[in-house]
Amino acid sequence: MYDVIIIGAGPAGTTAGYLLGRAGLSVLLLDRKNFPRKKACAGGITPKAMVLFPFDISCFVRCICREVKIIRPGNASFIVNAKDPLCYITKRMDLDAYSLGKAIQAVYSFLKIIYWCRFKKIDRIIRLDQDDHGVSLTLSCDGKIDSVRAGHLIGADGANSKVRRLIGGQRSRLIKLPAIEADVPVKNAGRYSMTFDFSRNIKGYYWIFPRKNHVNIGIFSALPNGTMNRALLKAYAKDRLKTDVLTDVKGYPIATSYGRTYLGTGRVLLTGDAAGLSEPLLGEGIYSALKSGILSARAIEHAVGRKMSAPSDALGCYRQSLGDLQLDLRLYRYCASILYRFPQWSLAVGSCNILHNCFSRGYSSGKTLREILMPF
Ligand SMILES: Cc1cc2nc3c(=O)[nH]c(=O)nc-3n(C[C@H](O)[C@H](O)[C@H](O)COP(=O)(O)OP(=O)(O)OC[C@H]3O[C@@H](n4cnc5c(N)ncnc54)[C@H](O)[C@@H]3O)c2cc1C
Repeated sequence: MYDVIIIGAGPAGTTAGYLLGRAGLSVLLLDRKNFPRKKACAGGITPKAMVLFPFDISCFVRCICREVKIIRPGNASFIVNAKDPLCYITKRMDLDAYSLGKAIQAVYSFLKIIYWCRFKKIDRIIRLDQDDHGVSLTLSCDGKIDSVRAGHLIGADGANSKVRRLIGGQRSRLIKLPAIEADVPVKNAGRYSMTFDFSRNIKGYYWIFPRKNHVNIGIFSALPNGTMNRALLKAYAKDRLKTDVLTDVKGYPIATSYGRTYLGTGRVLLTGDAAGLSEPLLGEGIYSALKSGILSARAIEHAVGRKMSAPSDALGCYRQSLGDLQLDLRLYRYCASILYRFPQWSLAVGSCNILHNCFSRGYSSGKTLREILMPF
């Protein structure tokens, strides 16, 4: 019997695993992929997310952006810049493998090797049952049926979460916003600014993120049924980068929720995209994944530390501690509805120096949207 089982080794799962393992709890971390694995994500890490990593990830930063170009409908553009970084660009394949390595690292204690978390690759989850004392999981692993049990379970298995479905979470709506990305090899990638391009007549935007020897381009749709495909990406690369050579084209949904976020039931806590915690304005999800990973670990540690804990103590504490993040998401929702309904007008207002300087100063100093808007 483990203290905690975590399903999914993305940023939410590995952060929770690292912290719980460090606190001395026995943790089993499961993923259906072997690492390193490819992950559809542009790997943009904002300063507020950067400080949440419980270990140093600076060697995985491929580009530091202090300047962001915004292209408005009609092709006029403006530049937002700051003294401090506005975004750190990483590659998720490397970052996630490193984070998993940190979560399962070995430590030496009294001449004994202790692993912080145990990692296991599984084929699929078959069943999840809960009772007053714990959670039982039936899995398929190397073609065989296996079962494991723990005091708590963290569902960190992303936008298409199986854990969420198994605990009845499909009854509360998860909004899946499609996104697609590709790498484009270009000479001197550093000459491209980080770009958010709203000129293409979609409810969403195209992006260009510079990396060391290539740029990453992609499309984000603010509508669940937004259409996007390789041909649209190719046409965009041809237009903006004068090449149509794309590599590693990958698409995946980004999960958010418009109403109250469903965070789990009983001894099962949902984190990151499994809970629909990405923001719907630009689709940033790594920050919420890290934040919810940290808060779920704290809540479980707290519940396990209490002698007489009720089955849903950890969930109650987790729900309470996520209050600020939920308020932030509500603000993002509100801003998204204005931006995508009136893009021309909102970006004209946004191009005003006083306004975007205030945002870039706030963002680069690691503030959340709510903290930036507080003075208004
Ligand atoms: C194209 C694209 C670009 C993006 N760009 C950015 C960006 O630049 N910045 C940003 O902040 N966010 C970005 N996002 C959003 C971000 O990628 C996600 O919000 C973030 O990865 C969510 O983290 P997570 O830990 O919740 O889940 P994930 O990172 O999705 O990790 C889930 C893990 O669970 C595993 N898993 C899934 N199902 C199962 C199962 N049934 N059993 C076992 N394991 C399972 C998966 O293999 C995976 O390892 C982007 C998303 C997309 C699609």
